This record gives sequence, structure tokens and C-alpha cells, in this order.
Amino acid sequence: MPSESILRCEGVVQIYRVASGEVHALRGVDAEFAPATLTAVVGPSGSGKSTLMRLLAMAERPTGGTIVVAGVDVLSARGRRIRALRRTGVALVTQRPTHNLFPHLTVREHLQLMARRRSVPLDLAVAERLGIADRLDHRPDRLSGGEQQRTAVAMATVGNPPIVLADEPTAELDAHSATIVVEHLHELARDGATVVVNTHDPTVSSGADRVLALHHGTMHSERHRGRTVAIIDAVGRVQIPPDLLDRFEGRRVVIEPTDTGLLLRPPSEVNGDG
Ligand code: ADP
Repeated sequence: MPSESILRCEGVVQIYRVASGEVHALRGVDAEFAPATLTAVVGPSGSGKSTLMRLLAMAERPTGGTIVVAGVDVLSARGRRIRALRRTGVALVTQRPTHNLFPHLTVREHLQLMARRRSVPLDLAVAERLGIADRLDHRPDRLSGGEQQRTAVAMATVGNPPIVLADEPTAELDAHSATIVVEHLHELARDGATVVVNTHDPTVSSGADRVLALHHGTMHSERHRGRTVAIIDAVGRVQIPPDLLDRFEGRRVVIEPTDTGLLLRPPSEVNGDG
């Protein structure tokens, strides 16, 4: 695995202090994101998807745990190293097109700005790919929402950074723009990038190479090659899928080894119980 595309977190905890106490946004997340793979991160609102992405993007520091971005241990690296990595190694696209753009710059100037920041020559093929080549001299207020987000994605991916992070990139898009954006993200993954997309959009998750599901700040399952498996965390915890939790009254379970694996049964159904 080339080190510039390594993206990994171990035991990541993020706690926010608020007036009413603490919010445990991430409760020990272990995850590794592979190069040449588009991973979708799904989960209900409030499950921690955006928090995880901000940490992977190095926009925030975690309360605890380890985060490795492009082979660099984020918590022990110097500020200069992190700033350089954010500038050149990681593309970040957020949900709101206008949050990703500068109102006074044209599409071409956005792309030029990023090419300069990353010290790469400007290649306008990215504008072609995202269907904005005929909008190069327009400022954001002259673009549709879909064109704005396609510009944001083009800008973020100028120079093909090895890690591409997108937080709900299609949430506010029409179907045409969403298809173009998602196809571009897949193309970056095919070219070797490590691509992570937070999404509620089933068309995005169904096309992903791998789907990780968050629930209450923990990673509970992974779907890969059509198969969903539960995740065992670093201390041996497995989450019962939320839709099956009701089967275990009082949240207690009897675990029995069998020839082929483990059987989980509610205590009330086990012979000799009670
Ligand atoms: P998702 O992206 O899955 O909707 P978030 O990562 O945005 O989830 O939020 C996870 C939890 O952390 C939520 O309870 C949210 O209210 C809380 N949270 C996120 N960011 C902050 C913050 N800056 N300050 C306080 N609480 C936060």
C-alpha cells in the first residue's frame, strides 16, 4: 500500500463539551481505508459521520486514539507537516456547495488557486470531466447549485491528491449533477486514490466498493463484495445490529461456541435458564 494513501484510525474518541455536559460523538472507532477503493460511510443523523470526516481531514484533533493520514501519525506530527498534508495530500468536499467556494473567484480561478497551492500545473481536463468546461469564466453566483458543487469537487481534486474525503457531496444535488460527481469519485478511486464518502444517498452507497456503518459513534458493520459483516473492535466488542437488539431483553446474551462459529441467544431461550 503506498504510504501517501494510507488512511487509518484506531480507538478514535471524540468528546465535545457543551453547556449541558459532554457529547460522545465517536466512542472508539477503528477503521482502515484502502487505496483504489471508494468507501461509503453511512449511519443515521448524529451517528458521527461528519465528526469522523473532520478528524480524517485533520480539521480537528481527536480527544483520544490514533489517526494516520498519508502515512503520518496526525497527533504526533508537527503543525507544519499537517498543514502541508492538508494542502497537498487531502481533498475535502463538504455538503454545501457555497461553503466550498469563494464568491469573488471564477471557476478557472478556483482551479488555478488549488493548482498553485498544490504546486501542480493546471490541467483543465478535470473541468471537462465534471461538465463545467463551458463555465470557466463564471463566478459562483452565476452557477446552478449543481454546477457550484461540481466546481467544488473539481477544485478539491486538482492534481489528484491521494486521499479524497467527501461529506454528503450529493445531498443538495439534482440527479444529473449527483451522477457526474459520483462517477468522478469512482474514477479517482480507480486511479488509485483512497476515497471516503459520507452519504445518506442509497445510489451512492450501493455503488461503493465498501460500506461502513456508524451507529451512536461506533462502527458496527461493514459491507464488502455484497456481504455484510459485524465489526469486532479492538477490545472484542461486537454490536448487535440495531434492528435485532429487541430480541435480547434486558440486553443480555448467552454466547455458545458451535462447530462453525458462535451462537447468540437470549438467556430466556436457553435450556435450564431461570
Ligand atoms: P452525523 O454526521 O452522522 O450526522 P455528527 O458527526 O455531525 O453526526 O454528530 C455526532 C454527534 O456529535 C451529534 O450528537 C452532534 O450533535 C455532536 N456534535 C458534532 N459536532 C459538535 C460540536 N462541534 N459541538 C458539540 N457537539 C457536536
